[in-house]
Amino acid sequence: MTERIPCQTEGCKATILPATAAKTGGICMPCHQEKERQAYQEYIEQNRRDVNLFADMTDPVEILQTMYEPKEHDPLIRYIPYSKTAEQIYLSLQENELSRMVRYGVERLDSEDEDTGIDILLSLVCYRGVRLEDEVLELVSRLEYFPGVLFKGASSRIRDHLLEGIAHDQDRRQALLLALVWIDDEAVVEQFREWRLHPPTWTEELHIPPEEFALEAGWELTNEGERRWLFLEDSYPIVRAEPEGAEETRHSTSEEELLTHSKHTCPWCHGPLTTLMKISAHHPAMQHLSYSGETITIATCVDCSCYGVVYMELDEQGNAQWSSYNQRPDYLPDRQPGESRSEDGFPAFRLATTPRHGWHAASWMLEPAASQLGGHPTWIQDTEYPLCPCCHKRMINLGQIDWAEVEYYGEGNYYMFLCPQDRITATNFQQT
Ligand SMILES: [Zn+2]
Ligand SMILES: [Zn+2]
Ligand SMILES: [Zn+2]
Repeated sequence: MTERIPCQTEGCKATILPATAAKTGGICMPCHQEKERQAYQEYIEQNRRDVNLFADMTDPVEILQTMYEPKEHDPLIRYIPYSKTAEQIYLSLQENELSRMVRYGVERLDSEDEDTGIDILLSLVCYRGVRLEDEVLELVSRLEYFPGVLFKGASSRIRDHLLEGIAHDQDRRQALLLALVWIDDEAVVEQFREWRLHPPTWTEELHIPPEEFALEAGWELTNEGERRWLFLEDSYPIVRAEPEGAEETRHSTSEEELLTHSKHTCPWCHGPLTTLMKISAHHPAMQHLSYSGETITIATCVDCSCYGVVYMELDEQGNAQWSSYNQRPDYLPDRQPGESRSEDGFPAFRLATTPRHGWHAASWMLEPAASQLGGHPTWIQDTEYPLCPCCHKRMINLGQIDWAEVEYYGEGNYYMFLCPQDRITATNFQQT
């Protein structure tokens, strides 16, 4: 029998065959591999170079395209990221640059890089309200009509093509309905009204009545057969206040309050309630809201609203009180000190003074900066407009707070709602 010898690495208790020792210089295989890994790491660190693909680039379209180009993975190259995000660049594009990006998106779809192509078209439609031409939407149709929001500005020709499919294409009917609801012309509303009055036989195969697909696009068909939007069309981003700018912002702007502790306590968990937003009812985002008070306060328990809808009632001054309509969720965790989301102070936030496109944050796939007053909500899971516990109508979404922008390890969205007639607010929460 061959005698085994100890591994030469200090602290290693392994023994090895002389043959192995001859190969590795006296150490065991695991130690040998670890030594090689370290040597490789050192080599990479000494020889890695920074590559800035954007140096000397000034054309924003070229910059975006460079961001989307697949980069060859080379451990010896560290790519320097561009100083702005794609989302920020899209917001700065001029008309002709938007058209160039549409063409580039189509090119990527054509070259079977569908994810990138869709990402580009989604950015153009959501961030900038670009209406896609028929030829582009025909390409999207070939990809099973997904995502439906791309059809937002579709022509009447495309609309009729979708209607044709809904009547005859059983396999794609749901996808077609989910595209149709985004088209905002009156004929679509009329069609849903017609389907409700005289349901075609195929409606039996759907799990919900056809008009409920409209919720996906932020509207509902009222009892009278009208379109009722369930969100405010202008979106004002809620952004972190820069440390030195914060003072100035507080002085210059109005009475709005964002993310502050309320003096009230949650009856369920006994933690402090949080005022997500307190805002003047005269803010331009609210112009189409028939609310009679001066102020709207959206308060909630940021812990308990993760488990069910939290309703609050607004008094004449717009102050929020815990609503007697609240129903304790079946499950609420026992929270230990330090586990509450409202435990520490919140960073300072401010409301942007200029609005962005109302559908800016409509697609979760783009991972947009989501915190906003107004704007189409960013649903992470299923669309979820709570019913007013008083009048049983769907409540209007007033905006949302993305918790990833509040806490370093935070995630999920708080959605804020109001029934203007009954002065009841609601908050719910979704995360991945
Ligand atoms: Zn060893
Ligand atoms: Zn609570
Ligand atoms: Zn109501």
